[in-house]
Amino acid sequence: MRVVVVGAGVGGLAAAADLARRGAEVVVLERAAVEGGKMRALDVAGAAVDAGPTVFTMRWVFEGLFADAGQRIEDHLILQPAEVLARHAWRAGGRLDLFADVAQSEAAIGVFAGAKEARGFRDFVARSGAMHRTLLAPFMAAERPSPLELVRRVGLAGLGDLWRTAPLRSLWGALGDHFSDVRLRQLFGRYATYVGASPWLAPATLMLIAHVEQDGVWSVAGGMRRVAAALRDLGETQGAQFRFGAEVAEVVAEGGRAVGVRLTDGERIATDAVVFNGDAAALDAVAPGAVGGPRGVRSLSAVTWCVNAPTRGFPLSHHNVFFAEDYAAEFSAIFDRREITGAPTVYICAQDRGAGAVPAAGMAERLLVLINAPADGDVRRFEAAAYAPRVAALLAACGLVVEDSGVATTPSEFAALFPATAGALYGRASHGATSTLTRPGAVSRLPGLYLCGGSVHPGPGVPMAALSGRLAAARLLEDAAGRRGAVRVSSGP
Ligand SMILES: Cc1cc2nc3c(=O)[nH]c(=O)nc-3n(C[C@H](O)[C@H](O)[C@H](O)COP(=O)(O)OP(=O)(O)OC[C@H]3O[C@@H](n4cnc5c(N)ncnc54)[C@H](O)[C@@H]3O)c2cc1C
Repeated sequence: MRVVVVGAGVGGLAAAADLARRGAEVVVLERAAVEGGKMRALDVAGAAVDAGPTVFTMRWVFEGLFADAGQRIEDHLILQPAEVLARHAWRAGGRLDLFADVAQSEAAIGVFAGAKEARGFRDFVARSGAMHRTLLAPFMAAERPSPLELVRRVGLAGLGDLWRTAPLRSLWGALGDHFSDVRLRQLFGRYATYVGASPWLAPATLMLIAHVEQDGVWSVAGGMRRVAAALRDLGETQGAQFRFGAEVAEVVAEGGRAVGVRLTDGERIATDAVVFNGDAAALDAVAPGAVGGPRGVRSLSAVTWCVNAPTRGFPLSHHNVFFAEDYAAEFSAIFDRREITGAPTVYICAQDRGAGAVPAAGMAERLLVLINAPADGDVRRFEAAAYAPRVAALLAACGLVVEDSGVATTPSEFAALFPATAGALYGRASHGATSTLTRPGAVSRLPGLYLCGGSVHPGPGVPMAALSGRLAAARLLEDAAGRRGAVRVSSGP
């Protein structure tokens, strides 16, 4: 059986590896020059700086992918567990580390905000763990369920647990059950941005991301790009072929099913099935009518700066967040007025730090600096220079000086890199109770065309996109074999 995978993002890479391993003749067509999609690096003053995802979680997803191919992840990637999950600082003062060790975080929160908040944190950890347990196997690691199907999967005994995932409440509101210190609501509300959403509009269910981080954050030796390279190697060793600089303009349908693809240069490639790893929104042009359902609000975009320069004045950890005062104003600016607020929150990944590593004073180090932005790359031009002084001012107020602003990527550039996204980095925003259940699943309306990637169930993020690729591959092979039961992937560490 021949399968064309369109796109070598993490979802396409995972699908290609699984399909090739299970005997399909796989060709991956990627418009860019290299695999990885959003998991990319930029060369800045002679060093490769991670320009996309930096927080590597759910290691078990990748362990499973390699193990199913008879390989060990340790032989392909050097993963270092983080002791400090993230360092947080506020313009108004105050600094708080979250640790891999929950007790250490609880103690730190006690010192930072008092005993009541520390107790609130303990309850919050238990609640996010329970949500994760409820949704991991029936939702995240399985084919997209309808609301009714989800209820069926959790069973009568699990209905109470499902209700406690609080899909009807906002994340921001539910955090108030645990924290009265607004800084802690900011800190944990920020998890909404991991799926490109506003904490005020995202469902409280996203609390489960706290558990995902608590379960382990790893840094990848050589940078996150190594993950993409390792997945490509895995696919190639199973027989998948990769073509770069190959952009698919159309999924060719005949007799009501996908039978091939046409590239932008006119070349046609016949195939028995297609797995599309671009954003689902791009299918309006590439395979009109193949996805239905609500279009929803675009998720967050970003302005990023990849830096290779000395820093001083603040003890950066591997992951760092600098909060300005008015978090609500930031999200209202982005989602209501489509602007970047005057004082955006700044995330910095200092990729040379962690596990005791600290660059020598005065030596250049690699940073990814990121602020949230509206995904309007299709309707206006963003100029990074307009925001750099605001970023520098917040960092300076927290004590940090970065000696160069590096190479910027704006929503306009993200829009050009990822077709039909307008710069949205996470598909549609996970806003409201039903957004996670109305994302496209692996099966499209066009038989023979399957979908994977961050805009598709189970959602954005590197491990989730990898799961979507595995689910698409499994569904495709089950359909080819004439079997109907819901597919799932192994869901456990
Ligand atoms: C700045 C940034 C920070 C992030 N931080 C994190 C993080 O810390 N942790 C985390 O887990 N996630 C993070 N994410 C999200 C994560 O990177 C994505 O959810 C994930 O990588 C998406 O993978 P994907 O499978 O959707 O493929 P994508 O990365 O979207 O790649 C799709 C590929 O398809 C190709 N393509 C599209 N259309 C065509 C076509 N017609 N023909 C041929 N090729 C095509 C594209 O060129 C691209 O290579 C971040 C993303 C960004 C941009």
